[in-house]
Amino acid sequence: MRAVRLDASSGSLTLVDVPIPEPAGTEVRIRVAGCGVCRTDLHIVDGTQARVVLPRTLGHEVSGWIDASGPNAAPLLRRSHLSAGDATLVSGGWGCGTCADCLAGAEQRCDRSLAPGFQRDGGYAEYMIVPHPRHLVRLGDLDPADAAPLADAGMTAFRAVKRAGPWLAGSPRVLLIGCGGVGGFVLSFLRLRRGGGSARIVVSEADPARVARAIDRGADEALLNADASAAHEALGGPAEVVFDLVGTDDTLSFAADAVAPGGAVVLVGEGGGRLEMSMDRPAIESWFTTVAWGSRDDLREVVRLARVGRLQWDVERTPLAQAAAAHERLRRGEVAGRLVLVP
Ligand SMILES: [Zn+2]
Ligand SMILES: [Zn+2]
Repeated sequence: MRAVRLDASSGSLTLVDVPIPEPAGTEVRIRVAGCGVCRTDLHIVDGTQARVVLPRTLGHEVSGWIDASGPNAAPLLRRSHLSAGDATLVSGGWGCGTCADCLAGAEQRCDRSLAPGFQRDGGYAEYMIVPHPRHLVRLGDLDPADAAPLADAGMTAFRAVKRAGPWLAGSPRVLLIGCGGVGGFVLSFLRLRRGGGSARIVVSEADPARVARAIDRGADEALLNADASAAHEALGGPAEVVFDLVGTDDTLSFAADAVAPGGAVVLVGEGGGRLEMSMDRPAIESWFTTVAWGSRDDLREVVRLARVGRLQWDVERTPLAQAAAAHERLRRGEVAGRLVLVP
């Protein structure tokens, strides 16, 4: 089969021919329908992402059809009412399965968690192996290639908004720093909340095309490369919630200056940035949290909302063989929604 791998020595993406993997034990083989290209993939190529084991087939935002299963997977698939040919999303945090977080379905928190495209081969390929049927979420009638971004961008955004829940009551002032694939979903989930229409939502983006798109997706105002004073002016005060979808030194600093006393900053973007904290900054009694992936129940809820037509997201399909070119386009800021590699 064809797979796009990141080589440890060259540091570049290469299209290679490798054997189709055989599922063993509880493993399930997925025939990939689509795999989203996430900015985190660029960080992996750049060598700035922690906990990546090379060489590796990239891709952690995967949809596909159940193709084959190991001898111990069949009863587990039956119990989950899944069978060969079913379209599924791959839930990406693969934990130990036995700790408290794993038993609660929040395997992304497990300290032994592995992920496709990081420590296991991912979805930049025609087929991939998923270690256990519990990591599969049924897609129903959603088009699998179009649905791939739900597995990472959608789920992570859902989790981020959920974690910000205590700060979103009433008519909160909300700032999004960056509004690409994940940010678009954050806007949708903010507006879908009960009373979400009364939030004042401002976006700061570096890309003019994304500024226009943020307004279409429900932002009240979208600014090109705002700073904290411009954000405060557009919001009518400091932000009760800041979503940092970029995560560089600069955006974390912006978030620290923009957040209100007692407010919350949710760091989502894996830009490798750092923030120095002191009693002077960020604002007194503000809270910082990170988010990566979400729980299986989060992903099921995202799929449910997508199936009833409550979510909008843009997908541009591109051939798997064009993965390196897709990365370059994302780097140059030429992608409005999500690029999905199709084998
Ligand atoms: Zn990602
Ligand atoms: Zn665990």
